[in-house]
Amino acid sequence: MLPVPVLERCAADMLNYQGSGMSVMEMSHRSKVYDGIIKETEATLRRVLSIPDNYKVLFLQGGATTQFAAIPMNLLKTGKADYALTGSFASKAYKEAQKFGDMHAAFSSKETNFDHVPTQDELDIRPDADYFYICANNTIYGTEYQYDPEPPAGVELVADMSSNILSKPVDVSKYGVIYAGAQKNMGPAGVTVVIVREDLLGNYPLEKYPVMLDWKTMADKDSMYNTPPTYGIYVLGLVAKWVEDMGGVKAMQERAEKRSSMLYDYLDSQDFYKTVAAKDSRSRMNVTFRTGNDELDAKFAKESMAAGMSNLKGHRSVGGMRASIYNAMPIEGVEKLIDFMKKFAEENK
Ligand code: PMP
Repeated sequence: MLPVPVLERCAADMLNYQGSGMSVMEMSHRSKVYDGIIKETEATLRRVLSIPDNYKVLFLQGGATTQFAAIPMNLLKTGKADYALTGSFASKAYKEAQKFGDMHAAFSSKETNFDHVPTQDELDIRPDADYFYICANNTIYGTEYQYDPEPPAGVELVADMSSNILSKPVDVSKYGVIYAGAQKNMGPAGVTVVIVREDLLGNYPLEKYPVMLDWKTMADKDSMYNTPPTYGIYVLGLVAKWVEDMGGVKAMQERAEKRSSMLYDYLDSQDFYKTVAAKDSRSRMNVTFRTGNDELDAKFAKESMAAGMSNLKGHRSVGGMRASIYNAMPIEGVEKLIDFMKKFAEENK
């Protein structure tokens, strides 16, 4: 979901953005008006996420998946990096990185179907690795880190925050790189944000790798080496402003905790539905559950859709159900879901 006020503002701006006589979609990315838009988007995001001045903010294309390759391409020096395998996106990032160097799994919960994230003690990180990679929220499995892991000194922490960015305060200075596709909590699909500490730029072998994946080139050109995803950046700026107006990431955190604990409290109070994620790893963004019967799960997905709630079917790789309750989801959405779940349980037990 995108916040309704953001969609309304997009509609109001659609034909004539602030007297420019055109839609943001039609503007040259080199125009003065658009320059104002991208600068404002960056400034708002910096305020909302408290991004320190020694970090660059890049607006890129290719989705989070392109960054699975760009991360090792930009960060490897010794050629070694460590990954915590906590779900399908972390595993895909690990697999992609293996093309570029010596990769090591510092943790894996694959054997228990990715039902938990590691504790700090469970991490086996090589002290000479260039970076340690985590997926902060595992969208498909419904697990989320409740703390910032600490790699050994000199090993940079890299996090995919595609599905939980802007949902809580983050101490950016603990991370070398934070990145996220926009389409869950920040805007429409098509723009990916990379937040990278300046001193990590400049190791990219530009003579043999494609220029488009060099973060330094993009940073030096303020994400305008080529045409950036202009409309997505504009909407992202509106979403960041909406977060700020709502009380910032602290308010988003309170909302997220309220929404998810309502659902988990209900799930823990009954025995028709079973939760999937281990208690101490539960995601505030994606709540996964199942009935234990594939036919009933399919019926749930169908009937909830008919009741006006879309996307409750679990990801095709895990089945069951998944309630994605991102920033823009109002509390009433969760209340409606719980009412539906109670009724469905009553009718099908
Ligand atoms: N990481 C996470 C945590 C995701 O949820 C997703 C998909 N939504 C991706 C990576 C892949 O993102 P994209 O489709 O933008 O490449």
